[in-house]
Amino acid sequence: MKLLEECKQAKRIGISGHIRPDGDCIGSCMGLYLFLKKVRPDADIHIFLEKPADIFSCIRGVEEIDSDYGKQEKFDVFFCLDTASDRLGQAEEYFCTADKKINIDHHVSNSGCGDVNYVIPEASSTSELIYNLIDGEQLDEEIAKALYIGIIHDTGVFQYSNTAPETLRAAAHLISFGFDFSRLIEETFYEKTYLQTQILGRALLESIRFMDGKCVVSVLDKKTMDFYEATSQDLEGIVSQLRSIKGVECAIFMYETGVLEYKVSLRSGGRINVSKIASYFGGGGHVRAAGCTMNGTSHDVINNLSLHIEKQFIEEQDT
Ligand code: 5GP
Ligand code: MN
Ligand code: MN
Repeated sequence: MKLLEECKQAKRIGISGHIRPDGDCIGSCMGLYLFLKKVRPDADIHIFLEKPADIFSCIRGVEEIDSDYGKQEKFDVFFCLDTASDRLGQAEEYFCTADKKINIDHHVSNSGCGDVNYVIPEASSTSELIYNLIDGEQLDEEIAKALYIGIIHDTGVFQYSNTAPETLRAAAHLISFGFDFSRLIEETFYEKTYLQTQILGRALLESIRFMDGKCVVSVLDKKTMDFYEATSQDLEGIVSQLRSIKGVECAIFMYETGVLEYKVSLRSGGRINVSKIASYFGGGGHVRAAGCTMNGTSHDVINNLSLHIEKQFIEEQDT
C-alpha cells in the first residue's frame, strides 16, 4: 500500500482509532496525523479519539485531537487505525460515510472493513505499520516519538513475543532522532499514580487461581472503582501483572461497566489462544492479548470463559 498515493487528491482527511485508546492507538494515530500535516499542508486533516490519558501529553499536537465528535462534513479519506470499524465509537459514522476508507491494523481478528486494508497480524503494533508506510525522508523527532510510544506500549517495552527483529530495527531508527527514550518509557509506561498502584494492589490481593493455578481471575466491581474514582485508564497493566504469576497460562481481569456487564481482558502465556475466546464472545485481539465485553454476573462470565479455556487445554492434550 502507498500511503500518499491513496490520499493524493483528498482535501478532507480524517483519522481515528479504537475506543478507550491505548498507547499504540494514540501513537499510530498521532504519528500518521503529524506526518500527513507535514506532507499535505494543503489538506484539511482531522483526528478523533476519546480523550487520551495525561501521560500522552508529551506527544506533539495531542491537544488537537477532537474528542467532541461534532457534526462533520463528509471526508474524502478516512483512516481507521489499530481496530476494525466496529470499535471506532463515535467516529464510525465518519468512517462509514467517507469516500475512501483505509484500515490499518495488526489485530488477527480484523477481517478488513476498509476499501483499502493493510492488516498485518505479524506486526508488533499499528505504530510499526505506520513507520513502515511513511516515507523515511519525512520522519522527524516528533513523529518518531509518537510511533516509538506506540511500539513500546504494544510490546511491553520489547518484552512480548510480538517483538520481531524488524520491530527493534524500527525502534533503533526512531531513537536515532534523539528524543529522551528512557524518560519516555519511564513516564508513559512504568510510572503509575498512587491511585493506580492501590487499585493494582487490590486487584492482585483479591485474585483467585483456578485450574490448578493455570488460570487466575480478578474482578473489580463498580463500587470499588467509584471508591477510588478510577477510570478504565487506571486499570491498564493489571492483567499483565496477573499473567506474570508463576504457573499462570491464562489471566483474566474484568471490571464492571454496567448492570450485569463486564469489560474483560485476557492474557495468555502462549498455550491458550485468547483471541479465539474473545472473538467467540464478540470481542477480539491477538493470540496472547485480547478482550471483550460480556453480560451476566461475574460468576456467569468466569464460568463461560473457563469452559472455553478448558476446551483449549483438552484440545491441546489430544493433539
Ligand atoms: P486490553 O485487554 O488491553 O483492553 O486489550 C487487549 C487487546 O485486545 C487489544 O489489542 C485490544 O485492541 C483488543 N480488545 C480488547 N477489547 C476488545 C473488544 O471488546 N473487541 C475487540 N475486537 N478487541 C478488543
Ligand atoms: Mn490498541
Ligand atoms: Mn495495537
